[in-house]
Amino acid sequence: MSDDQAAVQAEASEWFEQHWDPRMPLGEWWELLAGAGLAFPSWPEGFGGLGLPPALAKAAIRARREAGAFGPPNGIATFLTAPTLLTYGTAEQQRRYMPGIVSGRDIWCQLFSEPGSGSDMASLATRAELDGDEWVINGQKVWNSGAQHARYGILIARTDPEQPKHGGITYFLIDMTQPGVEVRPLREMTGDAAFNEVFFSDARVSDADRLGERGAGWRVAMTTLSHERDPENEGSGSGGGAAFGSVDLSLPVEEYARQVEEQIDGFSLAMSGEAGSVLERIVDDRRSADDPVMRQRLAELTSLRRNARLSGQRAAAAVKAGGQPGPEVSTLKLLGSEMARRTRDLGLEAMGPDGMLWGDDAPERGLFHAYGMFTPALSIAGGTDEVQRNIIGERVLGLPREPGEQELRSKPWSELDRG
Ligand SMILES: Cc1cc2nc3c(=O)[nH]c(=O)nc-3n(C[C@H](O)[C@H](O)[C@H](O)COP(=O)(O)OP(=O)(O)OC[C@H]3O[C@@H](n4cnc5c(N)ncnc54)[C@H](O)[C@@H]3O)c2cc1C
Repeated sequence: MSDDQAAVQAEASEWFEQHWDPRMPLGEWWELLAGAGLAFPSWPEGFGGLGLPPALAKAAIRARREAGAFGPPNGIATFLTAPTLLTYGTAEQQRRYMPGIVSGRDIWCQLFSEPGSGSDMASLATRAELDGDEWVINGQKVWNSGAQHARYGILIARTDPEQPKHGGITYFLIDMTQPGVEVRPLREMTGDAAFNEVFFSDARVSDADRLGERGAGWRVAMTTLSHERDPENEGSGSGGGAAFGSVDLSLPVEEYARQVEEQIDGFSLAMSGEAGSVLERIVDDRRSADDPVMRQRLAELTSLRRNARLSGQRAAAAVKAGGQPGPEVSTLKLLGSEMARRTRDLGLEAMGPDGMLWGDDAPERGLFHAYGMFTPALSIAGGTDEVQRNIIGERVLGLPREPGEQELRSKPWSELDRG
C-alpha cells in the first residue's frame, strides 16, 4: 500500500469510528455517508464522493469494510444514472438529481430495450415529439428492472425518424410517477418479478430533462452501457449497499442489513460478487476437491477469476487515463458470464442429488439454486454474449462490420424494415 493510500484509509477509518452506528435510521446513515464523500469516494465532492483516483477510492472503501459499516445505496440509480449524469448532465441536472441518488431516496430504472429492439437497440421506435418546451412520449419498453419501484427513468426515444437509426435518438430523464406511464410486471423463471413492461401514452418530459444534445442519445446511451458492462463500476455496490427494490429509509440500518442478508434471491447473489465464496463453502462442506476432475475444474475457474481481476485493473487504469470505459469492458462482461456459468455448474454438481432441490428444502436455503436459475440472465442483460463478441471483433480487433450493416446505418430509420 502506498503512503497516500495508507493516509486515506487511516483518515476514513477514523471517520467510521466516530460516525458508524448500526442503530441509526438507514436514510440518515446514507445521507451522512454521502455528505462525508465516503459513499462513492471516486465521485466528485458534493455528489457522494471526494473525487479520489481509483486506488485511493479503494483505500477509503477498504476502511468502510474493515469498520463493518453498511455500504451506500445500490441500483440503477448509482450503477447507471449517476455515471452518465456526471458525464453528460448540466450543472443544474446534477444538482437536481444527484442528492436523491447518493442518499438512496430516489430509485431509478433503465428504459432502453423494446420488444423489437434489444440487441439492435438503435432501431427503437418509442417516439418523443416536441410540444412547446416539453417532449410527448409514446411507445413501449420492456425488461425494465425495478421499474415498479422507480421514481425516475433513463429513457431513450426517437426524436427524428428521418435520420439514420443511430442519429435520431435522444436521451431523457423521465418522471415515472406521472399518469401517462403504465408499469406492468413480468414474472421470470426464477419466480421473481424483477422486471417489467412500461407503456407510455402521451407522457411528458421537460426539455430541461434532456441529457445531452438532441439526436445525440445513442452516444449518451453507449456511455451508460459501458458502465453497465464495467465490473469496476463503483456504483454497482458489490460487497455492500442495498437491493434494487423499494427501501424503507426509516428502518435502523442493522434491521435493514439483516433483511438484505436473509433475502433468498439469486439476482442479489449474482450482483454482490459473493457467489464464489458460497461455492467455496459448498465444495469444502462436501469435500468435493478430493475428486481430481473437480479439483482441475476449480483450478480453471480460479485462474479465470485471476485473469478477470487483472483485466479489470487494466480497464480501470484505462478509464483513469481516458475518462470513460471503452469497448474493452466487453471482454470483462464475457468473462463475468463465463465465470457465473462455471460457478453454477460446479456448485450444483458438488451438491449431487441435493442440486436438484428448490427453496427451503435445498442446502444454503436455496440461495445457490436461485443463483443458478438467474445465471442465464448475466449473458443477456446489458448486451448478450454474442453482441459483446461482435463489439470485440469490430471495435477492439478492427474486423469488418456485419454484412449489410453499413447500408442499414446510412438509411433513414423511417425506411427500415423493422421487427
Ligand atoms: C435480468 C435482465 C435485466 C434487464 N434489465 C433491463 C433494464 O433494466 N432495462 C432495459 O432497457 N433492458 C433490460 N434488459 C434487456 C436486455 O438489455 C436485452 O434482453 C438484451 O439487450 C437482448 O435483447 P433481446 O432480449 O431483445 O434479444 P434479441 O436482441 O432478440 O436477441 C436474441 C438472440 O439473438 C442474438 N443476436 C441478436 N443480434 C445479433 C447479432 N447482431 N449477432 C449475433 N447474435 C445476435 C442474441 O445474442 C440473442 O441470443 C434486461 C435483461 C435481463 C436478462
